[in-house]
Amino acid sequence: MSATLSGSWDVVVVGGGHAGVEAAAASARVGCRTLLVTPDLGRVGQMSCNPAIGGIGKGVVVREIDALGGIMGRATDAANVHFRMLNASKGPAVWGPRAQTDRGLYSRAVRGLLDEVEGLELFQGEVESLVVEGSRVVGVGLRGGIEIPVAALVITTGTFLRGRIHRGLGEGVSGGREGEAATVQLAEGLEGAGLRLGRFKTGTPPRIDGRSVDFQRLEEQPGEMPDFRFSFWGREGSPGARSCWITWTGPELRRIVESHLGESALYGGALSGAGPRYCPSIEDKVVRFPGAERHKLFLEPEGLETGELYVNGISTSLPVEVQAAMLRTIPGLEEARITRFGYAIEYDYADPTQLRGTLETRGVSGLFLAGQINGTTGYEEAAGQGVVAGINAALGVQGRASWVPGRGEGYLGVMVDDLVNRGVDEPYRLFTSRAEYRLLLRQDNAPERLSGKARELGLLPPMAEEAWREREKTRSLWWGWARETKLPRGAIERVLGEPWERAPETAATLLRRPEVDFEALVLEGVQSQAELRGARDPEALRALEVDLRYAGYREKEEAKAARWRDAGKIRVPELIDWDACVGLSAESRMRFKKHQPRTLEEAGRIPGVRVADVELMERLLRRDFPPLRKEGASA
Ligand code: FAD
Repeated sequence: MSATLSGSWDVVVVGGGHAGVEAAAASARVGCRTLLVTPDLGRVGQMSCNPAIGGIGKGVVVREIDALGGIMGRATDAANVHFRMLNASKGPAVWGPRAQTDRGLYSRAVRGLLDEVEGLELFQGEVESLVVEGSRVVGVGLRGGIEIPVAALVITTGTFLRGRIHRGLGEGVSGGREGEAATVQLAEGLEGAGLRLGRFKTGTPPRIDGRSVDFQRLEEQPGEMPDFRFSFWGREGSPGARSCWITWTGPELRRIVESHLGESALYGGALSGAGPRYCPSIEDKVVRFPGAERHKLFLEPEGLETGELYVNGISTSLPVEVQAAMLRTIPGLEEARITRFGYAIEYDYADPTQLRGTLETRGVSGLFLAGQINGTTGYEEAAGQGVVAGINAALGVQGRASWVPGRGEGYLGVMVDDLVNRGVDEPYRLFTSRAEYRLLLRQDNAPERLSGKARELGLLPPMAEEAWREREKTRSLWWGWARETKLPRGAIERVLGEPWERAPETAATLLRRPEVDFEALVLEGVQSQAELRGARDPEALRALEVDLRYAGYREKEEAKAARWRDAGKIRVPELIDWDACVGLSAESRMRFKKHQPRTLEEAGRIPGVRVADVELMERLLRRDFPPLRKEGASA
C-alpha cells in the first residue's frame, strides 16, 4: 500500500547532513519547491566527528558557500567557540580560517537557518527506494510505504550506505554513524539504477571528560581574532570562548599500538576499503612514521556547556581496552575518563566519474549525488557539493542553463572538476595544493568571485544582496582611487615616515613595497576624498589590499586561468618522448606514459599528475618543441 504526503515538490533532497542542508537551501533559493527528507530531524547538520569547521583549503570553501547564500558560514559563526587563522605566517593565498564550534549550537543554528528559507520544507523519514522510468528519476519511496514524486532528486547519505562500524576485530556492526542505522536498501536501489559503488573507510578518536584531565601538564592554546566571521552577510556572533589544549603521544603509546596492531580493524584485515591518507589513524601514524618519537594531540572542546573533549590526532579502531591503555600514557590524560570510544566506519561510495560537473548522474537524468557519497571526506567538501547539486537540480527543473564553477572561480570548481574528471582512489579532501590559482582563490575574496553569480541565479537572500552591494561599492571606489589618484609628496612621506624625493605615485604602486602600511594609505584616502569616508567595509578593504599588493602575481594567475580554457585544443604529439621531457616528476611521467593523453587538458585530468608537471608540459607544447621518439620506438 502506498501513501502520499500532502504537498508537492520539484526537488527532493535525501539526507540532512552538510551536503543535504546546503543542497536543500540552494534549490529552494533558486526558486524550486524543495523537500528535505532525513531520518531524524533532531540531527540536521550533525557533525559526525570533530565539531570543527574550516581549515586550510576547507575554510575557503566555507566562505565560498557563504558567498553563494549558503548555511555553513552563518551556522559556524553562531557556534564558534575558538577561532584560529591557520597558515597566518604564510602568504594570504593559503590562509585557512578554522573554528572549533559548539556541536549542539551548530546543529540548532542549521535548523533555524533552514526554517528561514522560503519554499523549503523538512520531513522526517527514511528513503528506501528510487523510482526510475526509462532513464529518468521520477520518485522516491520511503519506509512505511510513502511515495513522493520528484522532478529532481539529490542524494546525500554520507557514510550511511551499507555502513559498518568497527572496533577491534570481527564483523563490526551495521550503522551509518554510532547509534544510527545504516542505509542498505537505497544502496541496492542505486546499484539497480546502474551506479558503480566502491568501499571507503574513516575513523574517529575517543572523547574524554574534561573534569578528569590534568590541565597543568598541558599547553593552552587560546583562540584568536574574536571578531572574525565566516559569513560576510550574516549577523551571528560567537556565543563564548573556550581554549584548546596541546599534549603529545610518547614511546609507551607507540609500544602499545605496535603490539596490538593485529587487533585494529584498520590493520587486522576487518576493513577492506581505502581510508583518508591525510587524516590518518594513530595506527597509520605509528606504521608510516616509525622514526617519530611523538605525535602532537589537540584536546578540543565539544561545546560550551560540556567539559567533554575531543582528542584530535588519535583516531583509532583498536579494541576499547587498548584505547583506554593508550590514553593513560598521554601526559595530562593519565586519569582521564573516556566518555566515548573511537571507532572506524566502512561505507559505500559512488564512483564520481559517473557524474557530470553539475553532479547529476550521467546515466539517470534528474538524479544528483552530493557529499561523502561521492568519495569525499569532510563537512566542507560535502557542503560545497551540496550547493552545486542543489543549484543545478533546481536549474534543471526550471529548464535553465546549468552552472558549474570553474577551477579559476573557486575551490568548489577545483573539487567538482577533480571528482568528475579524475575520480578518487581514496577519500578526497581539499588542499590548497590542488588549486592552480591559489592567489585568486582566497578566503577573503569569495564574495567578489561568486556573489555576482549567486545574485544572477537568485541565490542571495535580501540581506546578503545588500551586504554584497555595499562591498562592491567599497571595492570599486577604493580600487579607482588606489589606481588612479596620485598621492602628493607630503602624503607619501606621512605614509612612509621618511622623505620622498620622487614624483607623486598611486597607492597601488606604493603598495607593491612590502613595508607600506595599508591602513596609513586608507587614512590618506579618507582625508582626500569625502566619498571614501562612507565606504569602509573592513573585509572588502582587506581583500582589496591583497589584490593590490600582489597585483603582478594575480595578473599572471588570471592569464594562466584564461590560457587553461583552451587546453583541450593543445594537442600532445603521438610520438612524444616522455623520458626526454626534462624536469617531469617520475610519478607524472609514469602516469603520462600509462594514459597517453591526446591533449593538454587530458594530461591535466590524469589522477595523481602534479600541477607543476602539467605547467611544464604546457610550456613545451605551446612552444612546439616537445621531444619526440623515432617512429616505431616504444613509448
Ligand atoms: P553525513 O553528514 O553523513 O549526512 C548524511 C545524512 O543522510 C544524515 O543526516 C543521515 O541521517 C541521512 N540519511 C542516511 N540515510 C538516509 C536515508 N535512507 N534516507 C534519508 N536520509 C538518510 N571527516 C573528516 O574530514 N575528518 C575526519 O576525521 C572524519 N572522521 C569521521 C569519522 C566518522 C566515524 C564518521 C562517520 C565521519 C567522519 N568524517 C570525517 C566525515 C564527515 O563526517 C563527513 O565528511 C560529512 O559528515 C559528510 O557530510 P554528508 O552530508 O555527505 O553526510
